[in-house]
Amino acid sequence: MDSPGFSSLDLPKMEKADLGFFFPEFEGFITDCKFNGCLHSHEPHCGVKKAVQQGLISGDRYQNYLAFLEEVTQQERRY
Ligand SMILES: [Zn+2]
Repeated sequence: MDSPGFSSLDLPKMEKADLGFFFPEFEGFITDCKFNGCLHSHEPHCGVKKAVQQGLISGDRYQNYLAFLEEVTQQERRY
């Protein structure tokens, strides 16, 4: 499995917005996101989601990202 270098079990404490830094291939598409601080999950007009649909970003990587996003969201609730 292609992972950003850590498992969800030892995920460092971070903000949701920091997660994108672990997915450098998203970077070129984030500029297409309509909203600053877009988390690329439920937001409309998201450059990353568009790139996934066009096959420019691997769907597996995107699912991986969503899984981590969920993890960080739960972590934020915990603290
Ligand atoms: Zn986005």
